Amino acid sequence: MGEGPHVNGHRMNSVRRAILKWFRRHGRELPWRHSENPFHILLAEILLRRTTAAAVARVYPGFVRRFNEPKDLARARLRTLEKKVASLGLQSVRARHLRETAKRILLEHNGAVPQEDVSLRALPGVGRYVSAAVRNFAFRIADPMVDGNVIHLMNRLFSTGFTGPNDAKAWLFMGHFGGRKQQKQLYWGIIDLVAAVCLRGNPRCSQCPLNMYCDFLRTIPSPNPG
Ligand code: SF4
Repeated sequence: MGEGPHVNGHRMNSVRRAILKWFRRHGRELPWRHSENPFHILLAEILLRRTTAAAVARVYPGFVRRFNEPKDLARARLRTLEKKVASLGLQSVRARHLRETAKRILLEHNGAVPQEDVSLRALPGVGRYVSAAVRNFAFRIADPMVDGNVIHLMNRLFSTGFTGPNDAKAWLFMGHFGGRKQQKQLYWGIIDLVAAVCLRGNPRCSQCPLNMYCDFLRTIPSPNPG
C-alpha cells in the first residue's frame, strides 16, 4: 500500500477547523447524535447505510423506543422489522441483519455492544465504517471513518482521487486529516456539508466555508472572465 496523496498539514488543519466551526453553527440536530447508548448508536448507523438521515430521523425515535435493548430486537417478528425498514426504502436483508445482530450481541457479548473492531465487524451488516462510527461515537475511540461523503468531499477539496470507501489510501488519509482526536463533530460536519452545501450535482461554493481551500472550485471557469 502506498502512502497516498500528500496535503500540506497547515491546509489540512485550516480545513478541519473550518468544518468544525461551520458544524457548530449549522450542524443538524439528529436524534442519534444526542445518544450515548452504544446499542442505539449501532442501530442508527446500520439504518443509515444507503438511505438519508432525514428518512431515518422520521422513524428512529419510534424504533429505539420499541427496540430499546438487544433482547427486544432479538425477539421481534421479522415481518414487523421488514415493514419498518421498507418504509426507509431498504431491503429485507437489512431487517434480518438487525435481528441477527441483536441475537449475537445477546449470545456472544452478554447483551452489551462490543468495543473491539474485530468483534463489531463480525456482526451481520456491520462493516468497517459502521464499526468505526460506533467506536468513535459510542466509546470515544479515535478511529478514522470513510464513507461516500468523506470520499466526495476530500476528492473535491484536495483532488485526492480516492476511488471509494474501500480505498485503503482514503482510510490512511483520514487518519491524518482527523488528527489525534478524530472528533465526531468533524465527521458530522462532513456529512452535513455534503447534504447542504457541497452537493454532488450543483455545489453551493459561494456559501461554502471551505471555498478558499478547495481544488475543485479552482477548476470551475469564472462566469465573468476579466
Ligand atoms: S467550494 Fe464548492 S466544491 Fe469545494 S467543498 Fe465547497 S461546495 Fe464543495
